[in-house]
Amino acid sequence: MNKPASDRITEFDKRHIWHPYTSMMNPLPAFTVESCEGVYIKLEDGRKLIDGMSSWWSVIHGYNNPVLNRAAHEQLDKMSHVMFGGLTHRPAVELAELLIKITPEKLQHVFFADSGSVSVEVAMKMAIQYWHAKGKPEKNRMLTVMNGYHGDTFGAMSVCDPVNGMHSMFEGVLAKNIFVEAPQCKFDAQWNEKYISQMKNALAENHEQIAAVIIEPVVQGAGGMRIYSPHYIKRLRELCSEFNVLLIADEIATGFGRTGKLFACEWAGITPDIMCLGKAITGGYMTLAATLATTDVAEGISGNGGVFMHGPTFMGNPLACAVAVASIRLLLEEDWQARVLKIESIMKENLFTIKTVLGVRDIRVLGAIGVVELENSVDMAEIQRMFVDKGIWVRPYGRLVYIMPPFIISEKELNTLTETMTEVIREYLSL
Ligand SMILES: *Cc1c(COP(=O)(O)O)cnc(C)c1O
Repeated sequence: MNKPASDRITEFDKRHIWHPYTSMMNPLPAFTVESCEGVYIKLEDGRKLIDGMSSWWSVIHGYNNPVLNRAAHEQLDKMSHVMFGGLTHRPAVELAELLIKITPEKLQHVFFADSGSVSVEVAMKMAIQYWHAKGKPEKNRMLTVMNGYHGDTFGAMSVCDPVNGMHSMFEGVLAKNIFVEAPQCKFDAQWNEKYISQMKNALAENHEQIAAVIIEPVVQGAGGMRIYSPHYIKRLRELCSEFNVLLIADEIATGFGRTGKLFACEWAGITPDIMCLGKAITGGYMTLAATLATTDVAEGISGNGGVFMHGPTFMGNPLACAVAVASIRLLLEEDWQARVLKIESIMKENLFTIKTVLGVRDIRVLGAIGVVELENSVDMAEIQRMFVDKGIWVRPYGRLVYIMPPFIISEKELNTLTETMTEVIREYLSL
């Protein structure tokens, strides 16, 4: 078979394949990847890019990692998949054991889902079933904050930012959930009770209809890349308990060390009733997510003989579970925290150099997350081309130019990534 020429790939792709949030009539060009290695994305045209995105938060150990490759090969030789109804297997059990061990102690029960969005659906269904089983079926709405992002499926969309979220055209068909202002207290700022007063009032007024509060602890991801005070989460935990509402922590982006703690809830020292994990769970090798619940939630759902109503075809996929086990062990074996802190200090040093550049609104860094917020939305095609021409992979969203590199990035590579990023932003803003 003839290997199709690179421009044929690009052409076919452009005409027939949807990419995330793209038009079929007028798509932006997609670069063709030949292979990836460590922190590098290699394009078919021979160019090598330093990856600033970790393929959307997930590739924490870098691409083509020998340890993860071995785990995948070994599992592949046993079974790639087997159904989870009525059957179980070592990779799922080992992964559940690990997740239970490293997350807050009360989270003891694991549901394996196939993507982050599905794990959010599962979390919300758990909360609703919990109250149903307790004889309170009217507690079936979600309360959340603005600027959230929880995924693209219908339930998840219903708790994403309703205004500048990606889903406003579906407003009429989505569940009517309750929104309050996004946390306004900056990460290090002095706490003031006024920061949570809207949330408190919403709980006081509506708690009899609310099943759960769902929130991304400490860092709001795709809905605005906002970083806020852990004290907010601490108070939110107290308020949820006070008003008999479950707390769902969506740690799909923040989990597995990204913020400088293994899980962002640790910044506040709290335990949510339900926790969603995804993205970095397999080190970015394949899709897998998990929803963890406390024994109170699990037993509540199963009260009066109830069963939890969800079970996807590829639930607990052994190949994904085996790689996840290897990825988490690899993370824990290394001094991941020192690596993340080092990334944080280099990003602080290099990104803040453009703080006063005209057109830059704000710069935020926490753990291995670096955000440059601009005054105006970028021309994606233009700035993307500028990044690629200079050898880095950065994928902005609206006004946000942000990076979350693989933890294995070297000091030299990170300096190149951040210095090139600021150089491109300066250049772009002066155009
Ligand atoms: C990415 C993300 C999701 C959705 O996960 P998918 O795997 O894309 O479905 C949900 N919540 C948060 C916080 C995320 O960052």
